[in-house]
Formats: sequence, structure tokens, C-alpha cells
Amino acid sequence: MKTFLTILGCGSSLGVPRSDGFWGKCNSKNKKNLRTRCSVLISKGKNSILIDTSPDLRFQLLKSKVKDISSVLYTHHHADQTHGINDLRAFYFKNKKKTNIYADKNTLSYLKNNFSYCFTEKYGYPAILSANPVKSSFSLGQGKEKILFKSITVKHGKINSIGYIFNKTAYISDCSDINVKNFNKLKKLKYFIIDCLRLKSHPAHFSYNEVLKLVNILKPKKTILTNLHSDLDYNFLLKNTPSNIIPAFDNMKILL
Ligand SMILES: [Zn+2]
Repeated sequence: MKTFLTILGCGSSLGVPRSDGFWGKCNSKNKKNLRTRCSVLISKGKNSILIDTSPDLRFQLLKSKVKDISSVLYTHHHADQTHGINDLRAFYFKNKKKTNIYADKNTLSYLKNNFSYCFTEKYGYPAILSANPVKSSFSLGQGKEKILFKSITVKHGKINSIGYIFNKTAYISDCSDINVKNFNKLKKLKYFIIDCLRLKSHPAHFSYNEVLKLVNILKPKKTILTNLHSDLDYNFLLKNTPSNIIPAFDNMKILL
């Protein structure tokens, strides 16, 4: 059975354009520069796994015609990865059961503190989510639809974020450093989907030159740049990156 990955969003925390209409260096006429906040969907048959609930989640699911979500993995607690959580209510109403979410300890406590109504019934509104700690190795789905995952902890400035590895693909959307001890898990990748915020360095994200250095070490077959800030125009990246590195765009679909 085939496994697909859809980049639902590849923009940095404020998206491109920003809510005030600012496009930065991105050409507003190129639709591939229209970037919602970072999120991906991995699908195998009816097994649909969402990574992160961005504030654009409803729009992303409608645009990519996603009809169901089986489980949700979180990378970290920041607003651009979590604040679309309310849109998961649709799947409680559809499936009449709670959706399992997986995250590290800090992210789970952030979600439970700030979106308590999703986890505990209140005022007649049912709890819609079940919280689970993410393991270093796990599987989601049943039978032929099962997908195996590994998780690694990476640095994202002063906090940690989780990178997910599945089907010879790594998804690391928010990262400023990866411990060399995890490099062996990132070798022989078919797809390396990696944070590439901008050209200038940033304390919490990889910049373009840092990604190039990492790609030289890990040598994945294809690198897909995500979490793109308005400094990085799609055509600029396409022209200036080596052919094995490509910029993501919203609704990009790949066969894993
Ligand atoms: Zn973040």
C-alpha cells in the first residue's frame, strides 16, 4: 500500500504573506510563495496522520481535501504548531470518538493547560482528544495501513522540538541543532524535510547555509526546505539550490 506525504503548510510563524499583507522578498504573483504555517499529513489508506495543528489547520484541510485524521503528532508547543487544535473537534463529531495525540511532556502540559476543554468535558462540551507521551519508536495504524515511526529530540533555540522519521523520510520543521548521536538515524534518507528559515542565521532555526552543511554530511536523496520566511522567494531558492534540494510549497504531495 502506498504512503503519501502532503505538505499542508511550509511557512514560518507568521506565514507568507503576513496578516498585514507583507510579502517580504517573496513575489506575490507566484502562488508557491503563499505559505501557511508548518504542518504535514502522512496518509496510507485510511490511516491519516497529522503532524502539528497550525493556526491555518481548517483552511489547510479544506484545501487539501483531507476528510479524516486518525492521529496527531506534535513537534513542540509553539503557537504556530498548536493553535489550530480546536479544528480537531470536527473529527470527534465525525468519528464519535477521541483522537489520539502524541507529544513530549512539555507540549502535553502546554496543551492541557491552554486547551483544557479538548481533554476534559466542560459545560456539556465533550473531551475530543486523548493525550499520549511520544515514544522513541512506535507505530500508528493497523494491518497494511500501519506506519512505523522513530522520534528524535532536536534543539529549537532554548527549547526542544521533536523530529519524526518514517518511510526513509525525516520531518524536522523547527530546529537549530541536531546532536551528532542522532545522525545515524538520519542516514540513507529518501526525503529530508528540514527547517530552513532564512539566509541570515537565527538562534532557534537553521538558516540556508547551515542546511547546506547538514545535507553534505547526511547526504539524503532529496532535501525539501520548509518553515520558509518571507526572505526566501520560491523561484530564488529553486534557481540557487543544488538540484537535490528543493523548496516546499503548500499542498506539495510526494509518494514516500
Ligand atoms: Zn517553534
